[in-house]
Amino acid sequence: MGRRCVVFVVLSIVALLSASPAVSQRKYNLEDLPERAIDTIDSHNPKAKIIIYTNNTWRYWIPDYETLASQDVYLDHWTTNGVFAYRDVKISDVPESMEVKLVESLDDYHAPVLGRISSRYGPRGSGMHKGIDISLPTGEPIYATFEGKVRYAKYNSGGYGYLVILRHPNGLETYYGHLCKLNVEVDDYVVAGQVIGYGGNTGRSRGAHLHYEVRYADLTFDPERIIDFSTGDLKWQNFVLERGYFNVSSKLTEALEEEDGDLGEMFVDKNGNPLTSEEIVNNLEKAAAKPKPTVNDAIYYKVKSGDNLYKIAAKYGTTVGAICKLNGISSSTPIRIGQRLRVK
Ligand SMILES: [Zn+2]
Repeated sequence: MGRRCVVFVVLSIVALLSASPAVSQRKYNLEDLPERAIDTIDSHNPKAKIIIYTNNTWRYWIPDYETLASQDVYLDHWTTNGVFAYRDVKISDVPESMEVKLVESLDDYHAPVLGRISSRYGPRGSGMHKGIDISLPTGEPIYATFEGKVRYAKYNSGGYGYLVILRHPNGLETYYGHLCKLNVEVDDYVVAGQVIGYGGNTGRSRGAHLHYEVRYADLTFDPERIIDFSTGDLKWQNFVLERGYFNVSSKLTEALEEEDGDLGEMFVDKNGNPLTSEEIVNNLEKAAAKPKPTVNDAIYYKVKSGDNLYKIAAKYGTTVGAICKLNGISSSTPIRIGQRLRVK
């Protein structure tokens, strides 16, 4: 994690302590804790309480954890290692059309993050973009859109970077990729609006953004079908999910087709002929076995016509000051076209 992210995370945590709670709720015994609980207060969500300790730290506490976390939907096809949990389910097994209850009340939803949409769901280049990208400054808090159980929370070398996958009571799963820091662990139960991590630029990503996906049985559909990302509002209380909405290639490609697009060779052979799904899985496993890249690898940018330091800083979710420091220049130093600047 870059220093900038650390700073933002610390600042965010300080800010959140006075606003909405950010620390993950865990199963634990009160007597195991080094500090004693001194108070329990209501959180922004009626399903969660906040416990405050003598050392001024606090945690979420969900009184109904045992009941909520042991629902059938969290027992069936539950894997905490792989991104995909429903490899044996075929698209033909999915109903033609089904009604999905998204929320009971307004407390059951929160926008993942608000920001400019930098890339929508759908075909992109030679591949398929299976989620929506929202630009953000590194360190921006990312919220659980619905309540649910954390199925995956770690670094993913297929392109997602630091990734959280939540499974929700209605069977949908939401994915939050390229995070700079995780704030939950596998098997945590989270309420809507709980901070699950902080946005960043990890994995196959150019510039800080949230890559957000919605899946049912591993199959993706456009998140804009349920969320208006310009306002952050949920579009439906009950949503009719049609089989025709699904992207059928979801099942074959575990990795993302992100901005770099250099995963293409994993899906075709040297002559450009498509590989079988078995060959693709083998390639992905080989890629996953490669050492995990450090998340603060230097990123360079070649100055183009019309650029200035502010534009470049905004593009990479950084500041002019940070770029100047990395390159030993001042904000008034002229930059020229073709110049190579370190931006991260
Ligand atoms: Zn994306």
